[in-house]
Amino acid sequence: MNKEINKLLSIVVPVYNEEPSLKELHQEISSVCQAMGRPYEIIYVDDGSTDNSFERLREIQQQDSRVRVIRLRKNFGQTAALSAGFDYARGEIIISLDADLQNDPRDFPRLLEKLEKGYDLVNGWRKKRRDPLLTRRIPSMVANWLISLITGVKLHDYGCTLKAFHREVVDNIKLYGELHRFIPAIASHIGVNITEIPVNHRHRKYGRSKYSLWRFFKVILDLLTVKFLLSYSTRPLQIFGTFGLVSGVIGGALGLYLTYLRLIVKQGISNRPLLLLAILLIVIGIQFISIGLLAELLVRTYHESSEKKIYYVREIIDSSSSPSSE
Ligand code: UDP
Ligand code: MG
Repeated sequence: MNKEINKLLSIVVPVYNEEPSLKELHQEISSVCQAMGRPYEIIYVDDGSTDNSFERLREIQQQDSRVRVIRLRKNFGQTAALSAGFDYARGEIIISLDADLQNDPRDFPRLLEKLEKGYDLVNGWRKKRRDPLLTRRIPSMVANWLISLITGVKLHDYGCTLKAFHREVVDNIKLYGELHRFIPAIASHIGVNITEIPVNHRHRKYGRSKYSLWRFFKVILDLLTVKFLLSYSTRPLQIFGTFGLVSGVIGGALGLYLTYLRLIVKQGISNRPLLLLAILLIVIGIQFISIGLLAELLVRTYHESSEKKIYYVREIIDSSSSPSSE
């Protein structure tokens, strides 16, 4: 237990046009962290803000040497911003949260308590979510239901940025698109202990949400990708090939039956729609198997290709003079 408390804690915050809330947020985070009495750093990732967020962050950094600001070259999206924050975090334990004051830093100690009990990842669950019903809560309910159904990881709130985890959890995960909400699903696939606790959620005090309903559809498409990557990315031929084989075998059987009719029973088959179906199924079968083989080739490249980043950093300001990447 004592050892846990000495571990450096990295707080990672993605920031996109959140100027009005930053000072308040920093105060909230700092007072909670100081009260916990453990070493910490706070990493603000400015995701190409067009307001004065970066200026505010610079001021915050000047007053607090525990702060590091990563400024991305443009708006790469929340997932990329989080990913950048995780990469630059030095702590063994990471907590991520939104910059809009909707997540409550006072939940940190409870999240960490769960980690100490042996979990690798503790996800926040916005049990009483203070967001619009139609554009946020309903789509999110549907998405959560689908995600837990398809990935088999049972959580209530995948979209909650507030979570705590050991850094190894994200070391092995590459994030794309809206994929940060699939961290638990991907992590559980690599054998990580996951749990959740209800966390406080507050109304957005300043500014507006950066998302529209479009995100829902992106999330659903990402879910497909995740499912595919998790289940079949190493053996795509198994999924495509199965379809291909089933289709090909049915088509082949129909073809044999028609051949039998034509050659043995001496029936005309040119007017049989079944003939078309047989040909269609055989062609589809061949197509699927070929796609599966192509995917096998792609997968080799995918797994062996170079480590590409999904964001580019403009500058980093912190109190040490040496460059901060490892
Ligand atoms: N965010 C970001 N890049 C973006 C969009 C959002 O870094 O392109 C940050 C934003 O500043 C906030 C968090 O992601 O800290 C969540 O965004 P928002 O509050 O708009 O989402 P919601 O709470 O409505 O899901
Ligand atoms: Mg929000």
